[in-house]
Amino acid sequence: MAGKEKKESGLWEYSPAPESASIGKIAPKYGLFIDGKFIAPAKGRYFPSINPATEAKLSMIAEADAADVDKAVKAARKAFGSWSRLSASERGKYLYRIARMIQERAREFAVIETLDGGKPIRESRDIDIPLAAAHFFYYAGWADKLEYAFPNRKPKPIGVAGQIIPWNFPLLMAAWKIAPALAAGNTVVLKPAETTSLTALKLAELFSDCGLPPGVVNIVTGAGATGAALVNHKGIDKIAFTGSTDVGKIIQKAIAGTTKKSTLELGGKAANIIFEDATIDQAVEGIVNGIYFNQGHVCCAGSRLFVQESIHEEVVRKLKHRIKSLRVGDPMDKNTDVGAINSKAQLETIQKYVRLGKEEGAEIFQPSCNLPDKGFWCPPTLFTNVSQSHTIAREEIFGPVLAIQTFRTEAEVIAKANNTPFGLSAGVWTDKGSKIFNLTSKLRAGVVWANTYNKFDPVSPFGGYKESGFGREGGLHGILPYVQF
Ligand code: ADP
Repeated sequence: MAGKEKKESGLWEYSPAPESASIGKIAPKYGLFIDGKFIAPAKGRYFPSINPATEAKLSMIAEADAADVDKAVKAARKAFGSWSRLSASERGKYLYRIARMIQERAREFAVIETLDGGKPIRESRDIDIPLAAAHFFYYAGWADKLEYAFPNRKPKPIGVAGQIIPWNFPLLMAAWKIAPALAAGNTVVLKPAETTSLTALKLAELFSDCGLPPGVVNIVTGAGATGAALVNHKGIDKIAFTGSTDVGKIIQKAIAGTTKKSTLELGGKAANIIFEDATIDQAVEGIVNGIYFNQGHVCCAGSRLFVQESIHEEVVRKLKHRIKSLRVGDPMDKNTDVGAINSKAQLETIQKYVRLGKEEGAEIFQPSCNLPDKGFWCPPTLFTNVSQSHTIAREEIFGPVLAIQTFRTEAEVIAKANNTPFGLSAGVWTDKGSKIFNLTSKLRAGVVWANTYNKFDPVSPFGGYKESGFGREGGLHGILPYVQF
């Protein structure tokens, strides 16, 4: 084996190795990344991370308890002193270096992301990993320009940020959280989701390889209890959370009455609206991308489709035809469109909603697919004859399940689209600019796409209203939660 990678007490120890030696390499066991080193968890507990497409074990992941979280927060606090005083252009250089190294190791990150999470390799390769690098590049550029971003306001870092991320875009969410925090001079304790820790741990190796000072980013793995220990730790100055609305509410209650700042990016139930004057074939592609991208494990997924009555029959016919041609199966096959559901628990949640949809009287369509025997799978699914009161039209499913309703007028679809506790995103398909302007100003959603869907860019802010949370990530807005004046 090239390089000097060695294992001590079964843990993965950092030492630089040529890139070629570690392509797609997953260690059998990972410790916690604290103060620049991988260390064993205090209680010595580990849990498996599995490949959801095969159910095979990929690695054992350390489970951090409150004592481990305390160690990580103390390391981040110690590092904050020198990191926040480092010249802004030096901080920027580290971020540029991280961005470049993600690009250099893009293939390895993409393979591991797909093995660990079940998403099609085409998506990891073309979307998740390049966008993660793009976020570091973008915020690297801001690091030494903050006084221009906030003129006459003397922005200062907040301190130690506790960041908790979900399993649907593991590396990308880590980048969304870490890049703006570091650019503004904060230090970080990040907790990945328990089913998808591996790319965050690979990122930890990259931090060591690029010489990021120890303690600037610490990564503690574990499930909800680890997240709760981070949220409740007294040494945390800011919580940034992306996940379910239920956990978002728990976090808000936990930090009420403290001085901790927070940003929460929570669930969604986006309306994707298609008018009779839209280019139908293009809209059908947008609907498919809106709901079946990443198996529908997307908080801004276009899960409620509103079709103008006059084109309903045509759109549903074309949609059924189109989803018959989606390839469901091995996420490592570059021709796969719909990969594995991230976990058994999530598959059961999706199946519960599919059952409810049928029981409540909606009409289901699923193309026949040859699904593998092992792993967690759900074919692309759509429901017609859906009404506003149906559970599948109200609650977030987080799976490849589309609920289709109809409308006649603009006013009616605006009322229906806004009739939800969520407010993260929406889509509008029409040939008329006036309709786009009318809807974008009246839809209560943080992001509204027009004649496209699920397009992301580090420059544009992303975030929600109502039960979809508050605060923005991306763009200059994304730095604001990491500075104080
Ligand atoms: P999902 O239901 O889609 O799995 P969650 O909101 O449960 O989404 O998970 C998102 C992230 O929040 C994960 O990293 C998870 O471990 C973490 N988490 C779960 N419960 C808690 C909690 N009580 N406090 C803090 N973090 C939590």
